Amino acid sequence: MPVDPSPQPIALSLPRPRRSLQARVGWGAHVVTVGGDAPVRVQSMTNTDTVDAVGTAIQIKDLAQAGSELVRLTVNTPEAAQAVPYIREQLDRMGVNVPLIGDFHFNGHRLLTDFPACAEALSKYRINPGNVGKGDKHDKQFAQMIEAAVRFNKAVRIGVNWGSLDQELLAKLMDENAQRAQPFDAKQVMYEALITSALDSARFAQTLGLPPEQILLSCKVSGVQDLIAVYRELAQRCNYALHLGLTEAGMGTRGTVASATALSILLQEGIGDTIRVSLTPQPGEARTQEVVVASEILQALGLRAFVPSVTACPGCGRTTSTTFQELAKEIDDFLRQQMPVWRHQFPGVEGLKVAVMGCIVNGPGESKHADIGISLPGSGEVPAAPVFIDGQKAMTLRGDNIAQEFHAIVENYIQKRFG
Ligand code: SF4
Repeated sequence: MPVDPSPQPIALSLPRPRRSLQARVGWGAHVVTVGGDAPVRVQSMTNTDTVDAVGTAIQIKDLAQAGSELVRLTVNTPEAAQAVPYIREQLDRMGVNVPLIGDFHFNGHRLLTDFPACAEALSKYRINPGNVGKGDKHDKQFAQMIEAAVRFNKAVRIGVNWGSLDQELLAKLMDENAQRAQPFDAKQVMYEALITSALDSARFAQTLGLPPEQILLSCKVSGVQDLIAVYRELAQRCNYALHLGLTEAGMGTRGTVASATALSILLQEGIGDTIRVSLTPQPGEARTQEVVVASEILQALGLRAFVPSVTACPGCGRTTSTTFQELAKEIDDFLRQQMPVWRHQFPGVEGLKVAVMGCIVNGPGESKHADIGISLPGSGEVPAAPVFIDGQKAMTLRGDNIAQEFHAIVENYIQKRFG
């Protein structure tokens, strides 16, 4: 018996907004807003030696051109701290205005004090409360870094990581847990330690004069379920902007899938104001891959649009050749390569949808949903490829030059619509 459709419209799946405070990272006209009603920002990190100022500036430029809106770099030695202002200068000269975040561990209090030009050139400091010193040095050295942030008017990310969790805090919470009539699971105590470390540090930073809207938090772990559990709780307990990422996600497909899985679930719940995908580059792989993956996660969720999307079918027994795979890849590569220029030349082009389909089964339908689509002939079909523009069949391509002709049609469309 047929079932009546619900009289209620089906809910549109929109992320539940989480109201975080809004931080401002950057300077003058180059401030990037983070949190509040700002879009979720893509962040990345260099893997060059910061002392190699030219090599680092070039990698930062590549990351920024790939779409990274904030870039973090290691500041671990006096030489690295000295290189930072020079890196900033190189970037400014190249017209790359991406804000830089200094990643400090162990000696950040000294570096930020001894190298004021470094403290000034950075737009944000990442401080790991597990790595700022032990015993009575902890608070003193943490305070020195926060005082630098206050003096230079910088944002701070208090970035807790389970690989470098404050062991004194963890031991204290473990002891308290052991006194409970029914102790929590050790993992639950570890979650608590991560969150407590971040929140206690943030409150301490506020008592030192850092405004709450200039504080971002992160509690990174490398397990998907752990990350979801920790961030859900962290988001409940505070309204600081949150930086989100699965630490040490791994390489290739595994790292990509694990990051996408964890981040998507949290982003869909409105949790996360900046994201980073911590991929280990495969041999020969560009560092920019982590930016591509982060952007694709946000684009797939419908939260941001960075590059025109190419819808392509997977192919099957009806596919007659590899033409459609090649065409889909070629169009995708072409659109992506043009974006650093098109972003300024053709505003709105990032929302373009192109479809490249392998046969008549879903080809015309999917092509009509796109702005421009082509349905290539499958096995047994007439060797002709209908092209759809704005939902209407516009022409049919035949012969050996289908790929080149379709390419030209896409370019013309972009120039007419977005030029
Ligand atoms: S559109 Fe055609 S070729 Fe592509 S997967 Fe579907 S049936 Fe196969």
